[in-house]
Amino acid sequence: MLDEESTLRQESAAEAVAALLSAIVDSSNDAIVSKTLDGIVTSWNRAAEQLFGYTAAEMIGQSITTIIPPELRAEEDYVLGCIRRGEKIEHFETIRQAKDGHRLNISLTISPVRDSRGLIIGASKIARDITEKKRLEREREELLAREREVSQRLADALAARDELIAIAAHELRNPLNVFLLTLQLLHRICGTAAGFDQAQRLIEKAHRQLGRMTTLVDRLLDVSRVRSGTFELYRERFELSGLLMEVIGRFTSEDPSLEIVLDLEPGIECDWDRIRIDQAVTNLISNAVKYSLQKPIEVSAHISCGMVTIAVRDQGPGISPENLGRIFERFERVTEQIDKRGLGLGLWITRQIAHAHGGTIHAESEFGKGSTFVITLPPHI
Ligand code: ADP
Repeated sequence: MLDEESTLRQESAAEAVAALLSAIVDSSNDAIVSKTLDGIVTSWNRAAEQLFGYTAAEMIGQSITTIIPPELRAEEDYVLGCIRRGEKIEHFETIRQAKDGHRLNISLTISPVRDSRGLIIGASKIARDITEKKRLEREREELLAREREVSQRLADALAARDELIAIAAHELRNPLNVFLLTLQLLHRICGTAAGFDQAQRLIEKAHRQLGRMTTLVDRLLDVSRVRSGTFELYRERFELSGLLMEVIGRFTSEDPSLEIVLDLEPGIECDWDRIRIDQAVTNLISNAVKYSLQKPIEVSAHISCGMVTIAVRDQGPGISPENLGRIFERFERVTEQIDKRGLGLGLWITRQIAHAHGGTIHAESEFGKGSTFVITLPPHI
């Protein structure tokens, strides 16, 4: 009699514990699920219903793979393997799929469930929704990546600025040295009877060096004009071949051995900024001179279909196809010949001038076979 009573008491105590546990599981904010060793769901609490969208009635008796995305099904074999060995899996971060198809980032803690004899008969899982945490982590990573990119770009810009200052200083230093030396020589020969002719030559030389320095400073000023939007055109009417002859004359008077072949259509009247077009053509011809290795340069100008084309062709080393797309960018210098490198601004400014006149510039070149630069502009803007 006493034994019966104590068994009854034990049973009701066990029932009370089970009821308590079930109440705790049901009121938990985490999804708590149990399954057999074959992955068949045996319990499914209210939080699991809310998280995955399946009711307990829908899930109990079904395979747990219902909520595992197809490409992650192998995870279940791994999990069941651990459980069979009596191992617990803690904070396993993975992805599950809700009834409406949307995916959730969850953290799983999975423990083996044993019967009264200690045999493993299944597993209990606690799933915590970490979608928001993962989203914040991703946002943080993206923010950090963006920050790294911005500081890299800043570092690159600073390095480019430092390089530009070094190149500009070097480029200005050379003509300045020649200029100073020329002045010293002038000073020395002043007053000597034979000095007049020599003085004239020295003055011309000093003039040329001053011209180079002015061009360099002008290019640097043009960069800030374009950046600040104050790059303006002063239009006037002029005849194109006249301007081109003037530009070419400057080159040949500086170097009488220079061979320039002309093909200029006469009578092309244009309403352009004469000084800027002079600058653009000068840039193209001075590049051609710099790279053409004493071979003849061709300059042509024509009008056809209402557009004017000015072309400068040289027989220099040419430009490789991958570099052709870069040479019109600011500070791009792609030549192998280091001694011929300038600021990398001439073509960029030339393109700005062509665009400001409503036109274009492009280069045609085959590596080793010379280059042709073509400016195409409407005659009246
Ligand atoms: P830079 O002031 O250095 O001459 P440019 O903007 O005029 O700069 O030219 C950019 C680069 O394009 C040059 O550094 C050179 O590598 C290449 N380039 C320009 N013109 C020619 C040409 N006629 N032949 C070969 N390469 C050229």
